[in-house]
Amino acid sequence: GLARAKDVCKRNGLLILSVLSVIVGCLLGFFLRTRRLTEQEISYFQFPGELLMRMLKMLILPLVVSSLMSGLAALDAKTSSRLGIFTIAYYLWTTFVAVIVGIIMVSIIHPGGAAQKENTEQSGKPVMSSADALLDLIRNMFPSNLVEATFKQYRTKNVPVLKPVRAFPSEGFTHRFVIYGIRDENGSHIQNFALDITPSPDVVYKSEPGTSEGMNVLGIVIFSATMGIILGRMGTNGVPLVSFCQCLNESVMKIVAVAVWYFPFGIVFLIAGKILEMDDPTAIGKKLGFYAITVLCGLVVHGLFILPMMYLFITKKNPIVFIRGVLQALLIALATSSSSATLPITFKCLLENNHIDRRIARFVLPVGATINMDGTALYEAVAAIFIAQVNNYELDFGQIITISITATAASIGAAGIPQAGLVTMVIVLTSVGLPTDDITLIIAVDWALDRFRTMINVLGDALAAGIMAHICRKDFAKQNEEVPLNCETK
Ligand code: ASP
Repeated sequence: GLARAKDVCKRNGLLILSVLSVIVGCLLGFFLRTRRLTEQEISYFQFPGELLMRMLKMLILPLVVSSLMSGLAALDAKTSSRLGIFTIAYYLWTTFVAVIVGIIMVSIIHPGGAAQKENTEQSGKPVMSSADALLDLIRNMFPSNLVEATFKQYRTKNVPVLKPVRAFPSEGFTHRFVIYGIRDENGSHIQNFALDITPSPDVVYKSEPGTSEGMNVLGIVIFSATMGIILGRMGTNGVPLVSFCQCLNESVMKIVAVAVWYFPFGIVFLIAGKILEMDDPTAIGKKLGFYAITVLCGLVVHGLFILPMMYLFITKKNPIVFIRGVLQALLIALATSSSSATLPITFKCLLENNHIDRRIARFVLPVGATINMDGTALYEAVAAIFIAQVNNYELDFGQIITISITATAASIGAAGIPQAGLVTMVIVLTSVGLPTDDITLIIAVDWALDRFRTMINVLGDALAAGIMAHICRKDFAKQNEEVPLNCETK
């Protein structure tokens, strides 16, 4: 009895601590909310959580580059192309299935109801068109400057083209002027002090190049994967760089092994800090609540039934055992809302607990964290249809198909960072002519949904690695000892 409990604690210590830290974080957050801390106090309180995010983000670049280069270099041409094709096909397929689950859920629950819109404020901000978004996705695959790609992405921004203003007020106006003034206590006007200019609806927008903060992981993945494949073909000439990458990869994983002991502590503050700064949850409208429930139900169905069934069906192995192995990565995903920040832990779990061949994990995981986002795709479809429902807008079958395709594309385009899916929603909405300003309707609950969809994104990548390990097991068994460089320590 006691001895067994001790043994369980010893083996799963870190996992137990992580589960506890999520619970403690929630309790602490709700308790401290009653204390009405100032903004500054909250920001100091969030500091340990911020450190956790910084540590994880620090590891992404060396991890992605080294794992793809060393992973692909260790495969022969036939295996790498097989693995590549199967992985991409599986990713697209499961993402599409997730979208279908979302569409079914939102049609059954119908959260948009027939009631009136709660918030019709149009911001008038220029938006991106779907064509621009698609081109940006492709542009980001080929970063023009690799160093810049480590901290910036390309994103088209649309700027208003101003028509000449003739007189005030007259028809040639492209902007609505709002003048704020100061009045004295008798109500008479003293002075104008601010001028707010809002573009009127007929302003034309022109696309201009722009960049946005955040690493261009997609570009780095494409470059590193290409390098890896080429290095593998170079034979002994490629050896110095490949062994450099293997060494880099192993040492980064050793840093992860040390850093994980800080994580439970960081999680407490990350979660409590978020609860402290969130808006009053009781103020959320009924429809928005139903919308959140719809997304969560969809995520549960996809993550707890469909994906595990697929794993069971293909590998004939127990998905529960597999999921238990990656539980810690799922908790980190919940705490950080970022699949790329979770990447180091996903690696650790798959290699140590699930014993996935590292050559497979090194390819499947970084690619998955960048393009495979089942949770995000599901949420994009639900959100778009929810917005249609709120606007009493009937979608025909063709439009539903359009939504399912664009939601898949939007999830591929979303970076693995917090709330990236909210930005790529624009693609889905514009494709069927829904008002993009209505994204504001769902912002209030997005930070919370983001955490859960990120969990499903990470789970999808992990299960994919398990499935690929099964599908390609023969190729790997054959060339096990033929790895070009046999200098990896076990
Ligand atoms: N936060 C998500 C992720 O990192 C992306 C998103 O849906 O916003 O996977």
